Amino acid sequence: MNRKYRKTIIAGNWKMNKTPSEAKALIDELKAKIGRQKWCEVVLCVPFVDIPAAIRAARDAKIAIAAQNMHYENAGAFTGEISAGMLKELGVKYVIIGHSERRQYFAETDKTVNLKVKTALETGLRPIICVGETLEQRESGIMEQIITAQVKTALLDVPAEQMRKVVFAYEPVWAIGTGKTATAEQAAEVCGLIRAVIRAKCGARVARSVTIQYGGSMNAGNANELLAQLDVDGGLIGGASLKADEFTAIVNAANQ
Ligand code: PEP
Repeated sequence: MNRKYRKTIIAGNWKMNKTPSEAKALIDELKAKIGRQKWCEVVLCVPFVDIPAAIRAARDAKIAIAAQNMHYENAGAFTGEISAGMLKELGVKYVIIGHSERRQYFAETDKTVNLKVKTALETGLRPIICVGETLEQRESGIMEQIITAQVKTALLDVPAEQMRKVVFAYEPVWAIGTGKTATAEQAAEVCGLIRAVIRAKCGARVARSVTIQYGGSMNAGNANELLAQLDVDGGLIGGASLKADEFTAIVNAANQ
């Protein structure tokens, strides 16, 4: 973390878990456990149908609500999809774009990630852009190439003045939901690489202001070490965000 230049953001990705009433119950529990966070913003990325209940439950707390996906078009014949404007009107602040599960199971590509990032920004939503390599890519020595291409394509035609709204999450695919965490050094190396790609495109001042999270089996036990890295500005947390005590401990680690 480097609090001088950028915000630390701890975001929970609930994935396809929790009904609206369960969402309210978990947020009520979190509100009771998470005190005033001086140093970090807490974000909960909830399923679409939970958004109204989550926004109501989080209203009197400093917890922002995010969506886990959106369409890049503003409206039209896209049965089953949700637009950025719909999310914005509900009071959503952030939206995850390009999570590896969407890339893997729902044909998300670097190109659609870029379209979604631009629409999110135009609509006033802050994109949390997920990038990360597979184990095969890491082992064959092309991790840097993959991450660089993902970051560059995600930011095509994104004006530098919009960059302060952009959040990146480095999520090595091999670490998501597997219990395998990247070492603090690996996380720092790749978050540093993402910042270097942003620096080359937008300059040093913009690059140092962008929040870059780590995600992949982050938990109460490894959060301190990961967050101690200068280029790791928070976490995108899946499994551990569904347990109030575990998520609270990660938030506390970010507040130290
Ligand atoms: C995620 O879903 O973004 C994630 C990092 O999951 P987990 O923490 O469970 O690995």
